[in-house]
This record gives sequence, C-alpha cells and structure tokens, in this order.
Amino acid sequence: MTYDPNNVFAKILRGEIPCKPVLETEYALAFHDINPQAPMHVLVIPKGAYVSMDDFSSHATPEEITGFIRAIGETARTLGVEADGYRVLSNVGLNGGQEVPHLHVHVFAGCNLGPMLSKRG
Ligand code: AMP
Repeated sequence: MTYDPNNVFAKILRGEIPCKPVLETEYALAFHDINPQAPMHVLVIPKGAYVSMDDFSSHATPEEITGFIRAIGETARTLGVEADGYRVLSNVGLNGGQEVPHLHVHVFAGCNLGPMLSKRG
C-alpha cells in the first residue's frame, strides 16, 4: 500500500490538526486516542511515513525502529502504568481492522483489559 500523506496522523504530525500529546521524541509521537476504548488509551506513531507494522518492519532504519519501540515503553512509563500492566496492539490492514493508514500502536491501560480477543461468531 502506498503511503497517503493526507491521513489524519500525518496531519497531526504536521501540526495541521490538534492532539493531546503524551510525549514526543526524535522518532515518535504519543497522544490520546480521540475515542478511548479503555480508561487510558494512547496511540504511539513513528514520525516517518510508514503505512503499517508490515511496512515499518520492512523499510524503517534501525534508528527509527529502536526509537519507536523505546517510545512505546516510555509512553507507558509516562502514563505510570508499567507496574499494573497494559496492552500494546497494532492493527494491520483489512483483516486487522486498521482504519488509519499510518503505523500506530494502541497502548491500553487503567483497568483489567480482559481477554486478548473477543470471541468470533
Ligand atoms: P485503527 O483502527 O487501529 O486504525 O485505530 C485508529 C484509531 O485512531 C482509533 O482508535 C481512533 O479513535 C483514532 N483516531 C482517529 N482520529 C484521531 C484523532 N484525530 N486523534 C486521536 N485519535 C484518533
């Protein structure tokens, strides 16, 4: 899939639309999800133009990968949820239910998050 520079997270990175930031580093931005699915629900995105985890893991530089992964842990520590635990999730493509075509991981926290997947069928 080709990267669409008009996706909503690209606009957030360019400062064209606002977000509620949690942290920003050289390689990543973390901000609160607009429609939280848990008491704490934060998105972490790389600053580079990558569609998904598939794209990122294939094409990002080692520095970008390290910077992004470190930002995920740093986000959890900034939220103060590392002791009680949290969930990191990234939807990829159609079957993954990905809506925004800029790589993002969801960080869910603040309660017992229950089973990993809802039952199908
Ligand atoms: P996904 O289904 O994994 O692509 O998740 C996309 C997420 O982006 C959803 O949880 C949305 O609520 C969230 N989202 C969409 N637009 C915004 C926005 N402007 N600011 C913050 N979160 C957003």
